[in-house]
Amino acid sequence: MGLVIYDTFDAEKKEFIPVKQGHVGIYMCGMTVQDRPHVGHMLAFVCGDMIRRYLEYRGYEVTYIQNFTDIDDKIIARANAEGVDYQVIAERNIKEYFKYADMLNIKRATVHPKATEHIKEIIEMIGVLFSKGLAYEAGGDVYFEISKFPSYGKLSKKNLEDLQAGARVEVGEHKRSPLDFVLWKGAKEGEPYWESPWGKGRPGWSIECSVMSMKYLGETIDIHAGGEDLIFPHHENEIAQSEGATGKKFVNYWTHNGLLNLVGEKMSKSTGHFFAIEDIVSEFEPDVIRFYLLSSHYRSPMEFSRERLAESRAAVGRMANTFRSVEAYLGDYKPKGSVEDLTGKDAEFWKRICHREDLFRQAMDDDFNSAGAIAQIFEIAREINLYISAPETSGKKLVLARGLEKIKELGGVLGLFKSLGGEIIRLEELPQDVRELVEERAKARKAKDWATADSIRTQLASMGYHLEDRPEGTIIRK
Ligand SMILES: [Zn+2]
Repeated sequence: MGLVIYDTFDAEKKEFIPVKQGHVGIYMCGMTVQDRPHVGHMLAFVCGDMIRRYLEYRGYEVTYIQNFTDIDDKIIARANAEGVDYQVIAERNIKEYFKYADMLNIKRATVHPKATEHIKEIIEMIGVLFSKGLAYEAGGDVYFEISKFPSYGKLSKKNLEDLQAGARVEVGEHKRSPLDFVLWKGAKEGEPYWESPWGKGRPGWSIECSVMSMKYLGETIDIHAGGEDLIFPHHENEIAQSEGATGKKFVNYWTHNGLLNLVGEKMSKSTGHFFAIEDIVSEFEPDVIRFYLLSSHYRSPMEFSRERLAESRAAVGRMANTFRSVEAYLGDYKPKGSVEDLTGKDAEFWKRICHREDLFRQAMDDDFNSAGAIAQIFEIAREINLYISAPETSGKKLVLARGLEKIKELGGVLGLFKSLGGEIIRLEELPQDVRELVEERAKARKAKDWATADSIRTQLASMGYHLEDRPEGTIIRK
């Protein structure tokens, strides 16, 4: 069997068959940009990025859409608190997102659409929902009428009666039923607004994702990703809107990542626990954070602690040692020739590497088991470490060079070890500002001022330069 993906809707692993042969459309629910990203956001985006990279490695052409919710109550509240326009808040946090996404080696989406750039399409879709009898107007707002969409609750496996019993109508809402959700929200005095057939207002949270996924990926999409906390109500609402409007299946594979637990508590906006990614990158290298985020299967809940991050740092450090050993052994050697022509021990070594690559693929084919795949990369490193000290053979340099390339290639499929494989740059080749920072850091290290040294290292990492301190001096990679 080829690739299988666990689909939350059908609650089982299914063979992956894309809508369009050779192509995959993925929609990832992006950030509501009222604040800077925290590590819980980044877990979802790293998982989505890993899925995308693997599908690309498997030869698919991937269209990856990740939105920004750039208008909502919290953004407006933040803007009012700071006395600025809501766009100032949104733009600032979008910039922050890209800064940390780049550091964590999360590729840019094919398109990063924003809610406010799709108001016209949102109004059109609400119009369609009206024409199908699924929407109604009340008190200046527009709502989706859940009772008209009987399969509501299927994704989250929730019973409508139970949901109804648990829900309540907030003050100021005019819903027919507590479960009905807002499609268009009438503007209060002083709030930003757009004109619509139902008066001045702004879109509800979920409608944008239905509109944008359809616009960029079509009426039925292959994979819809996001954190498990979005299943209800957000993704349930997306299904109701999209399938209500088109009458077609909205998503073939729902992939939901498990959540991070910080001291046993869910890391989300609502709990008030806020572990900003900027705090974490000041203590741990981005490569280490990404490694940690992929070190468990994406559907498992993860314990988030310094201890776990320190374990990841040690693992990345072991991989760095393998890189160093091979580089030291190879010296100026430039690999030439084909691994196909190898004989004896060299050929046997290469066969073992290829076997590990097969196992890597098998792990990833099994619902993107990144933890299992990482284990296979470390098995390749173990083979390499052993072979370095093996007796000299005619093809030893070639297979070790190719073996290291294999680690870089497979690591790259997961977006890992970016800082290890880069080109080594000499101090005098660095741009002036980078060189000054490296020298400043060297001085701080000499004075045992580790805090300053670490903060400069982080700054350099954000500029794309990675430092490795070795007994013979510091190595700089781009
Ligand atoms: Zn969404």
